[in-house]
Formats: sequence, C-alpha cells, structure tokens
Amino acid sequence: MTTRQPVLRLEGVSKAYGAKCALDDVSFQIGRGQFVALLGENGAGKTTLFQILTGLYTADRGTIEIAGIPLGQGNSMARQQIGAVFQAPTIDGERSAEANLLFHARLFGLSRNTARRRIDSLAAQFGFTDSLGQPMRTLSGGMRRRVELARALINAPALLLMDEPTVGLDPVSRRQLHSEVRQRCASENVSALWATHLVDEAATADQLLILHRGRLIAADTPQELLVRFAATDLTTLFMQITDQADSKRWANKT
Ligand code: ATP
Repeated sequence: MTTRQPVLRLEGVSKAYGAKCALDDVSFQIGRGQFVALLGENGAGKTTLFQILTGLYTADRGTIEIAGIPLGQGNSMARQQIGAVFQAPTIDGERSAEANLLFHARLFGLSRNTARRRIDSLAAQFGFTDSLGQPMRTLSGGMRRRVELARALINAPALLLMDEPTVGLDPVSRRQLHSEVRQRCASENVSALWATHLVDEAATADQLLILHRGRLIAADTPQELLVRFAATDLTTLFMQITDQADSKRWANKT
C-alpha cells in the first residue's frame, strides 16, 4: 500500500433488509492516519456499514477497497487490514485478558513469541499490565474496552473500526478511550472509523461523516462544515443538516 492510497474506499454501497433500505448509495474514503467520525442517530445505518466491512453481511451494491484490496467473498487479505471494537463487548469474561489476547493473536497467525511481545507492549501502552492475569469480568468497563482495543490492534491493522465503543462508559473512561485512539492515529499512522451518536466525540475528527436514514449527507472536516452551514456548534450543525435532508426528501415525495 502506498502512503497516498486510501485505507478505506467505498463507492455506491447500498444494503436493504427486505423492503427496509439501511444504506443508500454510500461513498467516501479514509486516508492513512485519519481519525474519521461517523455520526448518525439510532437507526442511521452505522452498524450495518460496520457489519459489511467486517464480513457479517455483504452489500447489495457498490464496491469497497481496504488498503487497495477489494473486499469480496473469500478475500481474507482485505479483512486482515481491519481491527474492530463492537458496540457490545465480545470478549470472554471468564478468561484473563492475557488468554483472550493470546487466543486472538493466534487466530491471526502470530507466533507465540511475537504475540507475547505485542501483548506486553499494548498492555503497557493502554495501562492494563497489572490486570493481564485477571478474568475479564473482574475488570472495570473502561479497562475491558481498553483490552478490546488492544485486541483489535494485535495484528497491527491499517484500519480500526470502532462501533459506538464508548456506550456504557463513564465520562472519564469515555474521554480516555477516545483520546487513546485519536493519539494512536497520529503517532502510529493507523486510521480509525469511529461511529457515534455523540457530537462531542466528532469535534476533533479529521473528517466528519454524517449518516442519516442510510444516506451520507455530509463528509468534510468539522470546521469546514461549521463554516459552510454557518453553525456555531456541532449539535446545531447536525440538526441543520439532517433537517435539510428530511425537507429535501419530503419535497421529492410530493
Ligand atoms: P444504532 O445507533 O441504534 O445502533 P445504527 O445507525 O447502527 O443504529 P443500523 O443498526 O445499521 O443503524 O440500522 C439501520 C436500519 O436498518 C434501521 O432502520 C434498523 O431498524 C434496520 N435494521 C438493522 N438490522 C436489521 C436486520 N437484521 N433486519 C431488519 N432491519 C434491520
């Protein structure tokens, strides 16, 4: 992958569940090292997009490339470039953080020694070295999320997918997790797609994507969007853009 090549590129991606259109002709791209916020209300289509990117569902239409590799059935190369943290915890609560991470590292084909080195380094970076041997269920919510973040990074992916990762966390843990990922994008040149419905998590993004009723209705830096829509803050901006999209939708129906 060249440094100029987008880490993620979507072109005309659509997905429906029966008659319900969850994603409608979505196109965007993410550059290397970018922290990109995907903002949308409940039901906007964020999880559907993540499920397509992680292979749980396939898109009905459109193309997706990860680090220049087309995402398609049976193509595991593209998915190896992805690390994901889902909305609901997906880690074994009875096993220790270390056992969970080792298991995941082995799934990615890392040797035991490489896995050990990587786990020690990630545990030190995210501050859970002392908790490595404890069962996951005994860790705080914030700590568990950091272990999940470490798990997503174990194979040094080019793209981190974070689906509302701060749900259920207290304000301090929420801020910590957000700034850890944000800093990592800058220092390690990893890109992140961070889905949220919280505007404050989008404020420092390199790019803000607004998904509304399955359609991508804005994609630019938060600063650029604020100026363009003459909005004083992101909440006002979000409401203006979504209201405008709804008005257009109704106008087209009449
Ligand atoms: P939330 O913030 O609530 O998680 P979201 O932005 O992630 O919402 P999705 O979960 O992708 O949105 O849902 C998009 C739309 O598709 C919604 O209208 C939802 O009801 C519908 N939907 C999602 N999954 C399914 C499914 N398996 N079958 C039918 N409809 C679905």
